[in-house]
Formats: sequence, structure tokens, C-alpha cells
Amino acid sequence: MANVNEAFLKLKNDYLFSTILEKKNEFLSKNPKKKVISLGVGDVTLPLVPSVIDAMHKATEEMAKKETFQGYGLVQGYDFLIEKIIKYEYEKRGVSIDKSEVFVAAGSKGDLSGIAELFSKDSIVALMDPVYPAYRDTNIMLGRDNIKYLETNAENGFIPEIPHEHMDIIYLCSPNNPTGTVLNKEELTKWVEYARENNSVILYDSVYEAFITGDKIPHSIYEIDHAKEVAIEFRSYSKLAGFTGVRCSFVVIPNELNVYTKDKNKIQLNKLWFRRQSTKFGAAAYITQKAAEAIYTEKGQKEIYENIKYYKENAKYMKQELEKIGFTIYGGEHSPYLWLKTPNNMKSWDFFDKLLNEAAVLGTPGVGFGKCGEGYFRLTAFSSKEDTKEAVYRIVNLNFK
Ligand code: PLP
Repeated sequence: MANVNEAFLKLKNDYLFSTILEKKNEFLSKNPKKKVISLGVGDVTLPLVPSVIDAMHKATEEMAKKETFQGYGLVQGYDFLIEKIIKYEYEKRGVSIDKSEVFVAAGSKGDLSGIAELFSKDSIVALMDPVYPAYRDTNIMLGRDNIKYLETNAENGFIPEIPHEHMDIIYLCSPNNPTGTVLNKEELTKWVEYARENNSVILYDSVYEAFITGDKIPHSIYEIDHAKEVAIEFRSYSKLAGFTGVRCSFVVIPNELNVYTKDKNKIQLNKLWFRRQSTKFGAAAYITQKAAEAIYTEKGQKEIYENIKYYKENAKYMKQELEKIGFTIYGGEHSPYLWLKTPNNMKSWDFFDKLLNEAAVLGTPGVGFGKCGEGYFRLTAFSSKEDTKEAVYRIVNLNFK
């Protein structure tokens, strides 16, 4: 008899996006002529930029010729990409990263779930509430039941407070999905200090880094002194360059970051991840890595940041117009996400129904990201400018009394 891995049975049904879809379809069946505008899903809508397309065409041509054809790639990624990552993402910010510390892969979702395998099953895991649900589900799948939630709310401005108890693995996401808030230098310094005192590891998810405005907010956790001893950084080309369908990401695991055996022997996590990737990951595609490399030119940078600017302008517009009519909004400045307090303490799903049924606008109920998300609502800036304006116009004209 094949027995099931019962850890999987402990997962809650992922009803959030399926319920949203069901409700949308039900609305459309009753109102077939209405155009539903989606500000719900965190997916990009602008196409790949010309530099990326050119690089993909060229790489495809290379794959078509015997002399330049590429077979299995290097587990850690091609040097041509890793060198650009170091130069453009780190050296520029005064952070020194060694080539051996960068691992290119096929999307942060896989990286974030894979890394959780490297820690012991009984690790205490700290997650924010509200949270990107994949962090939680990954740990449940691995059979972990020691998950602690650090509540974020209006009182702490949706910025997690340093825990009073010991945590082994801490997931930090900045700019945050879903709340759109960011951790500044002072807050990140406190987390690094906490992790150093507790021998904890910070899993720093900054896949929305490109949305950070200005230089006051750290773009990398390694801008904080000693962070390389305790933090792993996750970056993705998904939101940076519209690669949600192309799939490319990288992880930085510093050589000085250690985990411990039961007998308190140090183990270099970087080496463990290399070992894990060698067995479980077949390297990101050559064409994909060439595509990613193409953003690291003057032209490529200009093109991708034009797109980011487009989404940021959507976010700014939504925030500005909705604040004008009295909404309290977090995020939207360093992030494509706006985190709205629902008016009159409406429940997240009631607000969702009102927006869908009366304005044909789709968003994401905050409670879907955790109990602290109740009474909040997430809107994304990833739609077209026209649809964003139309959606805001429809919301502004609703009666919330
Ligand atoms: N981390 C966060 C916070 C996300 O919101 C997402 C995707 O939406 C990911 C990671 C995964 O990104 P990728 O497309 O690189 O798998």
C-alpha cells in the first residue's frame, strides 16, 4: 500500500484565488456585457522589452548551430550572468559578492521552497501575518509544525516587530507582498542583530526590489553590516523584467553563513545548497539566462525601468485618488501593491463582493493572506494605465456609507 505524505493533508485548501475566479465567473454569467477589471493577480502585463527579445532570438540562433549549441548548463548558472548580477545588483550599492555565492535558477518560488529543505524539521519558523502563502505551505509540506506568526497591523504600520522568543528561520519580505510596506535600514539592522544573537537565518525575499524608490531604503539586506553572516537573499526577474512566464531568478548564499548540526558543528549553507541543486535542479535554460543578461546594459536597464515606472505610476495614481476620498492605504510607494483598509470595518470578502458586484473591479481580500489581513484589501498596479484609471473611477463613484 502506498501511504500518503500526510504533511500534505495539513495544507488548507488554496481557496483564495479559486474563490476569486468562481465569484468572477458567476458575476460574468449574470452580467455578460460588463468588463471586469482585474487589480487582483500579482502578474505583470507589459510584454518583454526589446533588449530581452533580441537576446532570446540570438540565443535561439546559437542553439540552432552545432558550434554554439548548449547542452546541460552549469548548476549555479553561467558566469556571463553571474558577473553582471554582481556588478549591477551589488557592486553598485557597495556590496561585495563572490561568484561562488550566486545561484541562478528558474524563479524564486522554487528557490524559496527548496531552501526550506536545508533546515531541520523541528526548526522554529517565523512568518509575518499577513504573509505570502507559499512560505507557510512549503514548511507545512516539509512536516514542520513549529510555525510562529509575527502579527503586523495598523498599530505597527505592518512592519514586523522583533520577537521576544527564539526563532530559527525568519522569512522577511521587503517590499512586502501583500502589504507593500518596506523595511528601512534601522529595522533591517535590528533583524540582523537578532539573527546573529540567536544563530537564526533570515530568508530575505526581495523580489520586488526594483520598485524601491530612492536610496534611503536598502535594496539588498547586505547593505547592512554583518548581514552576510545570517541572511540569504532571493531575487527574481519576474517583476524586475516581466519574466513571470520566462522564469529566471537568483539566490545569494554568502560563504560565511553557517548552520549547525545537533553537536554544534558548523555547516556552510552555500555548500549544502550547491549539493541540493546538483541533485534536484537542472540549471536555468541558456536562452533564459541570455535573456536575463540582456537587462544589464544601458539600453536594457532603461527599458526595464521604463516598465517599472509605468506600474509605479499606476500605483501612485491609485493611492492618490483613493486617499482623496478617505481611504487609508499602506504600500504603493516602493511596491506594486496597495494595502487598503476597508471602509467602515467591512470584512475583506464583503468589500471584495461590493467592488465586484457594483464596480466590476477585482482585487484580493486581505484575509486570504492571514488573519491579520481581515478588514484589508490588496490592489495591484500591474494593469494597464487605462484600466487602472477606469477601475479607480468606478471605485471612487461607489457609495460606502
Ligand atoms: N516572493 C513573493 C513575495 C512573490 O510575490 C512572488 C510571486 O508573486 C514570488 C516570491 C515568486 O516569484 P517568481 O515568479 O520568481 O517565482
